[in-house]
Amino acid sequence: MKHPIFRLVVSGIVLLFFSACAIAENDFARQRHALVTAIKTETAGTRGYLDSESLDQRVIEALLKVPRHEFVPDAERPFAYANRPLPIGYGQTISQPLIVAIMTDLLKLNKSGRVLEVGTGSGYQAAMLAELADNVYTIEIIEPLAKWASANLKRAGYDTVHTRTGDGYYGWEEAAPFDAIVVTAVASHIPPPLIKQLKPGGRMVIPVGAPFMTQYLVLVTKDADGKIGTRQILPVNFVPLTGRH
Ligand code: SAM
Repeated sequence: MKHPIFRLVVSGIVLLFFSACAIAENDFARQRHALVTAIKTETAGTRGYLDSESLDQRVIEALLKVPRHEFVPDAERPFAYANRPLPIGYGQTISQPLIVAIMTDLLKLNKSGRVLEVGTGSGYQAAMLAELADNVYTIEIIEPLAKWASANLKRAGYDTVHTRTGDGYYGWEEAAPFDAIVVTAVASHIPPPLIKQLKPGGRMVIPVGAPFMTQYLVLVTKDADGKIGTRQILPVNFVPLTGRH
């Protein structure tokens, strides 16, 4: 039996710890709110590339909900809600929230839809997708990142997201076809296997160009007859899509 004073001190420490955690979570929520306000301002009047005057309200709600601080390395946590990419190790980055918002919006996801992400990175974009669609598949070519992202997703409560290590150039054949595909690394061309795995009526968003040179976010659509359309959306700056293709 421990001395009552000892028990009191331990309870005090535990209480302090949980209070500190609650204060930190509140502060992250406040920062997330400020970030979303900035993104809303930047995307106001964007009919030119979003096909609407502003971001879909469901995308805004997802941005307000997904805890970006759970998807960055500890050293980057103080900057988790800065509107910029952050390093996640292995020469890779978690994308800028503004670009994640635009890419997610362009996919026009349905709740019951099936979506593939190529380039899991931290898992943040996958969590955003999981807020909007029930069936999310994501592939990462760097194994330690794939494992880290999977742990991040589970810790943040997104344990229904299907994760895999592999070369996303070839898609995820067993889970295809997809209503939407998002590629988060720049490719020199639109991978034919991804076009094949897109459903008629589906949408793909992919940065196309060369690393460190002009790159454009491209919206790819497949109509009911399987005819492919492409539209350049805006200039971007992504890390390269690697692999043997
Ligand atoms: N979507 C990520 C996030 O939310 O953190 C950011 C992705 S980061 C900009 C691009 C990612 O694509 C990197 O993690 C990189 O390793 C991955 N990648 C590059 N080539 C790939 C490939 N062929 N297949 C799958 N992942 C690839």
